[in-house]
Amino acid sequence: MSNALVVNEIYQTISGEGTTMGLPCTIVRLTGCNLRCKWCDTTYAYYEGKRYCVDEIISQVNAAGLQLALVTGGEPLIQSATPMLLEKLCDAGYKVLLETNGSRDISNLPERVIICMDVKCPGSGQVDSLRWENFDHIKSRDEVKFVLTDRNDYEYARKIVQDANLIERCNVIFSPAWAVHQSHKRWLIEPGEIVKWILADNLNVRLSLQIHKIIWPDKSGGV
Ligand code: SF4
Repeated sequence: MSNALVVNEIYQTISGEGTTMGLPCTIVRLTGCNLRCKWCDTTYAYYEGKRYCVDEIISQVNAAGLQLALVTGGEPLIQSATPMLLEKLCDAGYKVLLETNGSRDISNLPERVIICMDVKCPGSGQVDSLRWENFDHIKSRDEVKFVLTDRNDYEYARKIVQDANLIERCNVIFSPAWAVHQSHKRWLIEPGEIVKWILADNLNVRLSLQIHKIIWPDKSGGV
């Protein structure tokens, strides 16, 4: 098996969302994605990247000296050496998060890794992409995230949360999609609308806004 990965960018910032929101972290963004979400904010990671062996990536993460390492994409699990990278980051003492779009098998990932798995809603245009068996491998520390564009997405997410009993099993994140294609950048759906629906349903999920979008609304890459 190759121990090389195509990397789009490695940089230091704060974690933008979910249960680690606001914590300093090193982001390792891997190149390539098998999906094409309508609201994708990382299209620059589809093709651009440079090849590194796993140990070179670890060295770059070590140089920053931060405690949290977030491996993301694109879709990290389309590259075969990603589990090896995760394992070595854990061995090096980092708290390690993996962001995945939910379409790839997560059963072979190290137990120590916190998995942040998307479930794509209809507004993404990728609603059939979920590998449903992945729910069998979600741990209590993991996150399942739904990015919402409208009420239809909310109802789709609510049904899955309830049917799969997700609130009892892991952290459940609802997040408004960012209007990446509009010149006046803001959310595609007002966060306050989602709050109203969550409260009306007494649904014990966590609303998460991508704070890097609030802090740096005009930047793509490196935040
Ligand atoms: S899965 Fe992520 S990187 Fe891939 S198209 Fe969707 S938002 Fe973009």
